Amino acid sequence: MDTQPETLEFQAEARQLLQLMVHSIYSNKDIFLRELISNASDALDKLRLEAFRDKDLQVDTADLHIDLEVDKAQRTLTVRDNGIGMSRDEVVNLIGTIAKSGTAELLRKLKESKDTGASQELIGQFGVGFYSSFMVADKVTLVTRRAGEDQGTRWESSGEGTYTIEPVDDAAQGTAVTLHLKPEDSEDHLFDYAADWKIKEIVQRYSDFITWPIRMEVERTDGEGKTTRELQTVNSMKALWARSREEASEEEFKEFYKHISHDWTDPLEIIQMKAEGTFEYQALLFIPSHAPLDLYLRERKRGVQLYVKRVFIMDDCEALMPEYLRFVKGVVDAQDLSLNVSREILQQDRQIQLMRRRLVKKVLSTVKTMLTENPDRYQTFWKEFGPAVKEGLVNDFDNRETILEIASFDSTHDAEKPTTLREYVERMKEGQEHIYYLTGASRSIIENSPHMEAFRAKGFEVLVLTDPVDEMWVDSVNEFDGKHFQSIAKGQVDLDTEEEKKSAESERDQQQKDYADLLSWLTKKLEENVKEVRLSSRLTTSPACIVGDAHDVTPTLEKMYRAMGQELPPVKRILELNPAHPLVSGLRKAHAEREDDSGLADTAELLYGMALLAEGGELSDPSRFMRLLADRLAHTL
Ligand code: ADP
Ligand code: MG
Repeated sequence: MDTQPETLEFQAEARQLLQLMVHSIYSNKDIFLRELISNASDALDKLRLEAFRDKDLQVDTADLHIDLEVDKAQRTLTVRDNGIGMSRDEVVNLIGTIAKSGTAELLRKLKESKDTGASQELIGQFGVGFYSSFMVADKVTLVTRRAGEDQGTRWESSGEGTYTIEPVDDAAQGTAVTLHLKPEDSEDHLFDYAADWKIKEIVQRYSDFITWPIRMEVERTDGEGKTTRELQTVNSMKALWARSREEASEEEFKEFYKHISHDWTDPLEIIQMKAEGTFEYQALLFIPSHAPLDLYLRERKRGVQLYVKRVFIMDDCEALMPEYLRFVKGVVDAQDLSLNVSREILQQDRQIQLMRRRLVKKVLSTVKTMLTENPDRYQTFWKEFGPAVKEGLVNDFDNRETILEIASFDSTHDAEKPTTLREYVERMKEGQEHIYYLTGASRSIIENSPHMEAFRAKGFEVLVLTDPVDEMWVDSVNEFDGKHFQSIAKGQVDLDTEEEKKSAESERDQQQKDYADLLSWLTKKLEENVKEVRLSSRLTTSPACIVGDAHDVTPTLEKMYRAMGQELPPVKRILELNPAHPLVSGLRKAHAEREDDSGLADTAELLYGMALLAEGGELSDPSRFMRLLADRLAHTL
């Protein structure tokens, strides 16, 4: 067998992240050990699970543990586990590359931010796991053998672009990571990571809850002053979710969160739950303080792990959390499930469904409490996860009311601060029956849309909905607190009071008569684009706007469907004209006086095009529009 070490290159993204670690942009170096222990713990979980599922796998799972070995003379620290291990290919794929989605995005942001504080924050949100060893080591050696395989693999790198890899014959099953420690340096916050006390302190601070024994040899002096070395378990191994808030510190919960989430930043909320009786379980859930980079990617996994009687069963258990709460992390430990439950069984299990219902309610009620008791924290939550939570308005009928209660939206009331629906309703004007909203691509498009004119003039508040998901839920949610949601770009608008209506009645009748000819002529002229042309009561300054019927697909939604490749018949809406605008009244006059309508047809087309542009829409033939407009303008000179 060829035993020459082979030299391979790190994947480009991996190389860049390693550079950052080698040149240490992250100030808390202690956490490298947490990351290595976290990986070892995962490897032990995986081995136990695989041994359980695959009875042919010849492994001994009786004594699974993590050993920390210090060699003071050589200045090395080794983290050794007898877990699942890695094959050669796995080492190349898992250690030589970064498969995390969002890596490219992260690197782009890192490059942009010159500020080290911001870079630290970003790296912290991303978490670079194994690579953090290069903060404290100038060389890392990893020897591993996968359970069930004969051949082991030795990997080594100084973190500078390449690594070597070679087969080894006598590797123990599992993985040993040896760090060749950099010299101590107080300026760089490098401690003596070869000191027993330091290692012990780090383990107890960051990894105490790991459910496997973390052992190390420590010196002990007996009564007669004789020192011996003995193996000691340094962590308490107590499953944190089984402990009450009094029995464990806030810090411990936070570290546990970091272990299961692979996030380096503290969670926003910690949620504990316990059910006793026929179906017993404990849950420890976390709401992160920031959205992961891949929250809106299709393949995004859910974050809750399932344990059965303290034994890890599976990651991202989709049966426990609905998709719209996919950012919730944590652990659920059930007493009465079989250890070999499958995902399929879980999906159908009635007890699991009940459990899920309770977990969801608990998460939502936690947010509700946050809303009243800690508005700042709530705002962070909503900024990070609001668009995901709003998906629940479409999918989770049972909790729709609660989601509406905890949601907030941009509104014309206050450009700085989003509003809850409760607050909106409290501000509603006398006689106002509906909750008004407008969907669109951006706040400025919405605010400058002609549809807004009458609402602004009369002082009605309008919700400004710019998330793609808003287009979806407004169609399926009817009301909040008895008030219907009403798009200001749909249907007829009537904002006048009874009195105003009375006084304007005769004037309106007259207008209708005056404009009847023009409207029917325009309806005919523009029939390919609109289904009707009518007079508007929502415009004050613009000449025209386009509105839909209550069930018409909005332009944004139409665009979304088409982007998803869905066929859609062309959507025709309604053109509304402002009779108070000189262009419109002038057009009426010209139409009444002229025999030949050829010049006017262009104006009609321009009018329609302008209305389309005003709502942020796209012209079907921009160059034609330009030509017509240039022509018209030339005539005015
Ligand atoms: P993460 O833990 O977030 O996946 P890491 O950089 O910490 O990222 O580790 C990358 C991968 O390398 C792990 O997902 C795991 O598959 C593998 N790995 C790391 N350490 C070990 C280990 N001790 N035993 C087995 N596999 C490991
Ligand atoms: Mg890791």
